[in-house]
Amino acid sequence: MDEESSKQSLMRDLEQQVAACRRCPLYAASKNAVLGEGNLKAVLMLVGEAPGYQEDLIGRPFVGEAGKLLDRLLGEIEVRREEVYITNLVKHRPPNNREPAEEEIEACSPYLEEQFRIIKPRVVAPLGRLSTAYVLKKFGLRPAPISKIHGKSYEASTDYGPVLVSPLYHPAVALYRKDMEEELFRDARGLKELLRRLTSDQ
Ligand code: URA
Repeated sequence: MDEESSKQSLMRDLEQQVAACRRCPLYAASKNAVLGEGNLKAVLMLVGEAPGYQEDLIGRPFVGEAGKLLDRLLGEIEVRREEVYITNLVKHRPPNNREPAEEEIEACSPYLEEQFRIIKPRVVAPLGRLSTAYVLKKFGLRPAPISKIHGKSYEASTDYGPVLVSPLYHPAVALYRKDMEEELFRDARGLKELLRRLTSDQ
């Protein structure tokens, strides 16, 4: 089996596991699991927090208002949605769109870890405070508040080579705060430059 078919097959298995998941109570009140979607050969992997109302309804990540802002952001950096891989820390919607709890993030983490193993991204952009905390820890980077480190990038090593972690504010926060939206777009332009340098080195 070639690499692409093997990735597709691993992701299909994961989709089934997530659909049947009972590792935490979130499945009970949700309509659909939201594994994630995108290019299995993506250089850039985006990690949000949790599916919201629209995502739960149709089983795809970032399709509501925050998703529209994310699409604008990707447009700004001239990256098509089909080029990146997008997922969340947890795969079922927390009731009333509350933040996922620590135990829920922990319970769901084997799925995200498998997604990292399948995609092997060279750049990871965690979106928001919780995803940033998770991703920094995962890659052995020092914890830091997102307000201090958004838009910067940090190099870490993995068993498949170096990875750059580039935290961004969560698009949902930027929906209600113009100042945050501006910062988010400024940070995204930095990310564009980073991706440009990375891909021109190849
Ligand atoms: N917010 C997230 O963090 N993820 C989604 O999929 C949608 C909104």
